[in-house]
Amino acid sequence: MIAPLPLPLRSSQSPAHICPYDQTCSYLTQAAEELQMDRGLLAILSHPRKVVTVTIPVKLDNGEIEVLTGHRVQHCDVLGPYKGGTRYHPSVTLQEVSALAMLMTWKCALLGIPYGGAKGGIAIDPNQYSANELERITRRYTSELIKDIGPSVDIPAPDIGTSAREMAWMMDTYSMNVGHAVPGVVTGKPISIGGSKGREMATGRGVAIAIREALALQGKTLEGVRVVIQGFGNVGGAAAVLLHEAGAKVLAVSDVSGGIYAEKGLDIPALKVYWAQNGRKLAGYPEAEAVSNAELLTLPCDVLIPAALEDQITEENAHQVQAQIVAEAANGPVTLAADLILSDRGITVLPDILTNAGGVVVSYLEWVQGLSYVFWDEERVNKEMEGLMVHAFHRVTEQAKMRQVSLRVAAYTLGVGRVAQALSDRGLYP
Ligand code: GLU
Repeated sequence: MIAPLPLPLRSSQSPAHICPYDQTCSYLTQAAEELQMDRGLLAILSHPRKVVTVTIPVKLDNGEIEVLTGHRVQHCDVLGPYKGGTRYHPSVTLQEVSALAMLMTWKCALLGIPYGGAKGGIAIDPNQYSANELERITRRYTSELIKDIGPSVDIPAPDIGTSAREMAWMMDTYSMNVGHAVPGVVTGKPISIGGSKGREMATGRGVAIAIREALALQGKTLEGVRVVIQGFGNVGGAAAVLLHEAGAKVLAVSDVSGGIYAEKGLDIPALKVYWAQNGRKLAGYPEAEAVSNAELLTLPCDVLIPAALEDQITEENAHQVQAQIVAEAANGPVTLAADLILSDRGITVLPDILTNAGGVVVSYLEWVQGLSYVFWDEERVNKEMEGLMVHAFHRVTEQAKMRQVSLRVAAYTLGVGRVAQALSDRGLYP
């Protein structure tokens, strides 16, 4: 018997909604069945190794004190230091962070990079805070986690709502606490303190590579392929630029301010300029029609790229999706029920742990460059990342064919299999 998962990581009693943690465990269980994995190993991997929740009191600019809660969940470090982003978003919960930490374990293992999986987060809307307040929040959060992170322990990176700026604050806080500069404690940091060229565009670049490879299997190229992207941030925005450059027709994109659609395809460079001048918002772009986020997900296209939050394609709208390929640029954007519907409808889903792995791959390359004190040009970084992405992509498609399973189950089987092997080789302590 697998021991029940600790509360509050388990689903609510309602069977109608499976929480992200149980959803990820469900794919883990499918992979374990494929691998005929030992039940004890499955039980171990179903639980995070360490869950840290910290209180973050912060003095606001108006002099008042607000008390926030932050999490860092370390799922597994069997293959190497824990690795994963730090999310600032109102939807952050311990359960969500735990699911995302587990996804990082499979993602790193699948890509063959020597890391375990972790994730952190604070339930705030960063747009509601000044830069000074965000700095104090980030520094106190880092300080509270000082014993739990480190370049060979747990290495945070950006995620939704954070960027190189927050990583610089985290790096500085950690370094000041230990008394010397430790650039390797975070990745995704500014180039000036040891960040890697190519890191900012890396996740979007990896998404474009995964789509290119999936199309190539169907004898197609990116030229003229109709793409719809939900999200225009670090991931969706970069994917839009790179896919447009490669000849794809980006029909629609969206962000929190709403969506925009142009049947003939959007002029992405012009849109980028508008977006930057319009307070990083898409709404009101004159060369396109407005569409809601819900409409955007069901537009006719060849490739749909959910690049925002989880649970966007659900059993409610999966029947209306009109794409041949759904590329999961976000983590967990397709629910368990929707995944089955899309698969029954013959729609290919490129799973998150493969599709959006470009970010953590370049994080790894950043860490390697930092540890070796040798920094590469962008061409080399992109080439190394592409090599790892393409290799993983083909291993996943071969595995899916061999086992007659979806790309997701194939990806999990590879990732989980690698961790399970390492766990059984290391043995159980004590
Ligand atoms: N937050 C990104 C992810 O979900 C990157 C993590 C990292 O670079 O460590 O994959």
